[in-house]
Amino acid sequence: MPMKTLDALELDGKRVLVRVDYNVPLEDGVVSDDTRIVASLPTIRNLLSRNASVILMSHFGRPKGVDDKFRLAPIVPVLEKALGQGVQYISSKPASAETAQALQSLKPGQVALLENVRFESGEEKNDPELNRALAALGDAFVLDAFGSAHRAHSSVSGVAGLLPHAAGFLLEKEVSQLSKLLNDAVQPYAVILGGAKVSDKIAVIENLLPRVQTMLIGGAMAFTFIKAMGGKIGKSLVEDDKLDLARDILAKAKARGVNLLIPTDMVIAQEFKEHAENKVVPAGEIPDDWMGLDIGPASTAAYIAALQGAKTVFWNGPMGVFEMKPFDTGTFALAKAVADLSATAFTVVGGGDSVAAINDSGNAPKIGHISTGGGASLELLEGKTLPGVAALE
Ligand code: AMP
Repeated sequence: MPMKTLDALELDGKRVLVRVDYNVPLEDGVVSDDTRIVASLPTIRNLLSRNASVILMSHFGRPKGVDDKFRLAPIVPVLEKALGQGVQYISSKPASAETAQALQSLKPGQVALLENVRFESGEEKNDPELNRALAALGDAFVLDAFGSAHRAHSSVSGVAGLLPHAAGFLLEKEVSQLSKLLNDAVQPYAVILGGAKVSDKIAVIENLLPRVQTMLIGGAMAFTFIKAMGGKIGKSLVEDDKLDLARDILAKAKARGVNLLIPTDMVIAQEFKEHAENKVVPAGEIPDDWMGLDIGPASTAAYIAALQGAKTVFWNGPMGVFEMKPFDTGTFALAKAVADLSATAFTVVGGGDSVAAINDSGNAPKIGHISTGGGASLELLEGKTLPGVAALE
């Protein structure tokens, strides 16, 4: 069953609780990337234009109870500027009597922002009492927090059952775009997976292998494959308990005729730090005291070549330790290659680090779809039904 959408809601004069994902990065107490805030605007504007009042709720970080470090206050000026109107910030606990009282004066066309929903201990437990208290604040519920849609929490799926509900525009767009990577993806289809651990990506690899022609593996997870094939990886990151699994994935790819590529060369260093002295060696010949921090130039060239002609491309996870120069080279080369392909292919980038690389490289406008949810996008591509989505069906 499809999710209910905004047009299905009766909104005139109503109070609409909107779960957004404002779990944004802060630097020195200031929002350093407003992507998620900007992404929530179309839904908010639609509700306001239909004479509703909007009550926004979000989590922020992982506080254990009320904690000043995790307040939503830094969001307020950014949201007000982006929206072009004032926002009533209510700093009491979201389900408290004070919050209900403060919301009394909210009028159609106005916006309120509740405090961090994770200040409520029931949030992550999907506590029925908290669900009821939150639901009592509004007449309808809209879920637009794609980045949290894989969590069965009170403010995500719990409240939905108690109020007329619908998906916001962001959630709708994310689900429809990402679904194109699962069903009837235009061939040839290539997937690039990187990042720290193969264990985080097993379910995605398994679900995508039957659907793709090309799978490119980078990041630290490549070392588990290289070691599984008998290579020497020095002191590179590896998951020794996943070697059999890596062999199994390689065998499955071969049996299916998937072009699964593992790096053939690596940029290695002895120290894990920016500008550490480094050199390029064959991927399976890393000396004992050295570690691989980026894919090498031959691998980068081979990966870019393997992507040519693709009509669908999905990328999740950096090719190396892209936070430290010069070990960002492989990741940025891939970012540019994916962006260049966007003229002729449907390209999707998901996951915080790959999205940051795409943004930093100035290539974001070219990409077909940039997902605002790392974990949620992976779970969707694992073939799972997200609890937030299920609650709206
Ligand atoms: P993930 O959260 O799984 O997407 O992993 C992202 C992290 O993997 C980034 O912080 C990278 O620095 C890290 N990473 C990528 N390649 C390597 C590598 N070769 N060695 C150590 N860490 C890596």
